[in-house]
Amino acid sequence: INAIPSNAVPPTRAEREPAPLLEVRQLHKVFRSRGGLFKPAREVVALHDVSFTLDRGETVGIVGESGSGKSTLGRCVVRLERPDSGELRLDGIDFTVLKGDALRRERKRVQMVFQDPYASLNPRTRVGMAIAQGPMANSVPREQALKQAEDLLELVGLGAKTAERFPHEFSGGQRQRIGIARALALNPELIVADEAVSALDVSIQAQILELLEDLKQKLSLSLLFITHDLRVAAQICDRIIVMQHGRIVEQGTAEEVFLSPREVYTRQLLDAIP
Ligand code: ADP
Ligand code: MG
Repeated sequence: INAIPSNAVPPTRAEREPAPLLEVRQLHKVFRSRGGLFKPAREVVALHDVSFTLDRGETVGIVGESGSGKSTLGRCVVRLERPDSGELRLDGIDFTVLKGDALRRERKRVQMVFQDPYASLNPRTRVGMAIAQGPMANSVPREQALKQAEDLLELVGLGAKTAERFPHEFSGGQRQRIGIARALALNPELIVADEAVSALDVSIQAQILELLEDLKQKLSLSLLFITHDLRVAAQICDRIIVMQHGRIVEQGTAEEVFLSPREVYTRQLLDAIP
């Protein structure tokens, strides 16, 4: 029954092992400031030769102290920032070189959730409309986009009726649910969450992490989860990447990194957890 016909073509490498959803190769980013009268010019290497992969369905955590380059990495992945060099591949296709329609299409596949969605929500825009804006900009008709926004508000646990409300009528945790709904509106495959629960109380953090887990299953999402908080990373991440001064110093499964860290820096981060 399992006989292979003798004329069968052997599978290519790509067929044997499908490309990871996200592949980051030798990413490099330097920030240069011009300096002034009392301020010397400065160069910050925010990312130095950063390489890793993220498979479909995985939650990969990026941890490290403030200033280690986590946000810059996240912003490069969603293309809010341009790396100086390196490759960013989605399903094996380097999207740093794409332009026009192809870029727009690829860009939708990765969406970001920020620390405080309030910062990017217009106080005069009803949240339903705020969620619908992305799809509308991508030629989804207004009525359809608004209906979808209601469904998304339901999905993130706020209820369809909240679509008519304004951002200030929501609590921090609820606003983060709006931020998540907004990211989901473009049907992404990968969510980059940058300190998405860092501004929230611990009990609310747990609820948002649970929501992300739930959505991951329901919508077959993958997650790049950026946080300075190792306790939070331990709760949600399958794999952990530790960054220091723009470099990856250690990576492994959450168990490996938390239970038997190999690097002094990782141990210091773990020791610092109160
Ligand atoms: P993290 O998110 O881990 O706190 P960031 O990626 O925000 O780290 O920052 C990494 C380094 O790059 C820091 O030294 C920061 O000051 C610098 N940096 C980040 N963004 C900019 C920018 N737009 N201009 C200049 N320097 C920046
Ligand atoms: Mg940051």
